[in-house]
Amino acid sequence: CAIAGVYGNHEAANLVYLCLYALQHRGQQGTGIAAYDGEHINSEKREGLVADVYTKKRLKKLHGKIAIGHNRYPTDGVFSTRNLQPIIAELPIGDCALAYNGNLINAFKIRRQLIQDGVIFSTGTDSETIMHLLAKRLKNEDFITALSNVMTQITGSYSMVFMADNKLIAMRDPHGVRPLAMGMMKDGYVFVSETVALDLIDAHFVREVEPGEMVVVDASGVKSYFPNGKVENPAPCVFEHVYFARPDSFMFGQSVYEVRKGFGKMLAKECPVDADIVIPVPDSGITATIGYSEESKIPFELGIIRNHYVGRTFIEPSQNIRDFGVRVKLNPVRNLIKGKKIVVVDDSIVRGTTSKKIVKLLRDAGAKEIHMRISAPPTSYPCYYGIDTPTKKELISNTHTEDEIRRFIGADTLGYISLEGMKKVLIDNNFCFACFTGQYPINPADLIED
Ligand code: 5GP
Ligand code: SF4
Ligand code: MG
Repeated sequence: CAIAGVYGNHEAANLVYLCLYALQHRGQQGTGIAAYDGEHINSEKREGLVADVYTKKRLKKLHGKIAIGHNRYPTDGVFSTRNLQPIIAELPIGDCALAYNGNLINAFKIRRQLIQDGVIFSTGTDSETIMHLLAKRLKNEDFITALSNVMTQITGSYSMVFMADNKLIAMRDPHGVRPLAMGMMKDGYVFVSETVALDLIDAHFVREVEPGEMVVVDASGVKSYFPNGKVENPAPCVFEHVYFARPDSFMFGQSVYEVRKGFGKMLAKECPVDADIVIPVPDSGITATIGYSEESKIPFELGIIRNHYVGRTFIEPSQNIRDFGVRVKLNPVRNLIKGKKIVVVDDSIVRGTTSKKIVKLLRDAGAKEIHMRISAPPTSYPCYYGIDTPTKKELISNTHTEDEIRRFIGADTLGYISLEGMKKVLIDNNFCFACFTGQYPINPADLIED
């Protein structure tokens, strides 16, 4: 998902809208904005894309100098408009709103407990669980104490923005799995999932919210808290660098573009091959392909063209729609492909269906040899922290050997960057690599059913 929050600007809701526009790639299912006029919260939440949901009229009713927003990316295949965010609630401190990116590991346990205590849930979101935890604590604790204590009760991945009591609060889980950046404008502060959103509204990047940090912005300025103490072992999601984030973002201390290109160079070093051209699977493979080409001296070509009016295929929760999507979306440039030895670079193989279709497209277009290169190690384990990877059984690397995968997708050769190679490109190795290694930085036991 994408989150954004603006404090201290008369155009708060309009700025959040622009941020959500820049962050559309992080979720396309639905979007929402809530604005706080000092007393009440007005909101707009609907299914669909940012460009379609917000009209001038709808934005106009979102007055106030504080606003937060959310783009929803489905991680559970379930969709209901009830689950759109921000979640809004009336608490003893007044109207509150919360926008959330991540996945709580112990949400189910907490939820069951709360329901037994008589709490009524009206959505299936982790945000609502957090709201109820906060509401309970507000009986005896002041707002900031209550919120920081909630941060010690929940485990999992979360980056969130919270708005209440004339404050904007940004929080990141102690492992810092999901990103969250802080920016500044002439009038006020802004928090966003990725720095691309800051570029769009001309805010300057101040810093990332640190793992485990809670930043409170109000009329008295900016305060920082670490409710769980200082963090020893952060584990930001390496998949943000591989695939999820926009390459023009700066994240976890590095430029996403440079990291992705570095992965491509490393891939060329580790898995060289003699070929006429190297082409990306658009768009996700482009940046790594530039690196592969630069390192290998094999010319870069755009051998497959993407129809930009088709959404990101992986986002569709049903297998039938996804398969259809790949065919609608990509088409080879025949004259470029015919008779050539081709390296094709993509960022990841998940189910293997995309690669299989790409190889078939290229064979049908007359390619002589097809060498598939992947700028991430085999994705063998599911993600429990908010990226929609399928179950273990559906991950082709979990059930097949590398050579079986090569045969399944129909390539002449197949090569992946190694985990060690990937680590050399990153400034430090304090990352979550669990979808490649199965070593989960936050114990997902509560979530695994079998
Ligand atoms: P596959 O067909 O192997 O299941 O999917 C691999 C393709 O899905 C890659 O081209 C990758 O760019 C794309 N993809 C889209 N969304 C996601 C996502 O959320 N996670 C992963 N791992 N890959 C995704
Ligand atoms: Fe990211 Fe993979 Fe870790 Fe999930 S398991 S947080 S996708 S690195
Ligand atoms: Mg792709």
